[in-house]
Amino acid sequence: MLAMARSEIVVFGKRMLERSLVTGTGGNLSVRSGRRVALSPSGVEYEAMKPEDVAVVDLEGRLLEGGMKPTSEMSLHLALYHARPDITAVVHTHSPYACVLACLGREIPPFHYLVPLVGGKIPVAPYACFGTPELARYAVEAMGEGKAALLANHGMVSVAGSLSEAFRVAETVEFLAMVYSRVLSLGEPRVLTDEEVDQVLEAFKSYGPSRATVAPFEEG
Ligand code: 13P
Ligand code: ZN
Repeated sequence: MLAMARSEIVVFGKRMLERSLVTGTGGNLSVRSGRRVALSPSGVEYEAMKPEDVAVVDLEGRLLEGGMKPTSEMSLHLALYHARPDITAVVHTHSPYACVLACLGREIPPFHYLVPLVGGKIPVAPYACFGTPELARYAVEAMGEGKAALLANHGMVSVAGSLSEAFRVAETVEFLAMVYSRVLSLGEPRVLTDEEVDQVLEAFKSYGPSRATVAPFEEG
């Protein structure tokens, strides 16, 4: 069941560790397909994680296919899927600079042109113990229709329509959190205006790789 999703969870789990978005067994990932959700296993080292360790549950958390016990943050993942029918992947990390700002309870405003790409601002969900329904509720409320939220005194969570995109958002949030933390140690940045944010969003519509073709040369 959800064979592709299970292997993707293993691949991106290892990548979270390699890119220093987590340490040890911190963080977790999930992929939704219809009403079924594949969740990374709880407390399993990413280096040792195998696709068969990834359990599949329904949106109420009932086990559909075994593996190892799913992540202790299952309620966080499921609450986000309930609130956001547009998303099919969730990534939760403890990336260092996201944690710095999360511990200060400081949201990230659009101080850099990449912030609009990850939701316009990155809010902070109030603190609640890991694995609790309160944490899930606070994260859903803070996230709103956005792409990422910091979790106070804990880490960050990102959502998207694919695991690769949710991972990319998590990496971008960490980059922005790193820059913002350093900026704050030197002063206060100028924050982009609403017009500047709209202009960036418009410009990103045509950003990305595409083939450059030379117009045919006309003789004479
Ligand atoms: P799990 O190993 O249960 O996924 O927990 C890690 C974590 O980050 C809890 O917030
Ligand atoms: Zn965590």
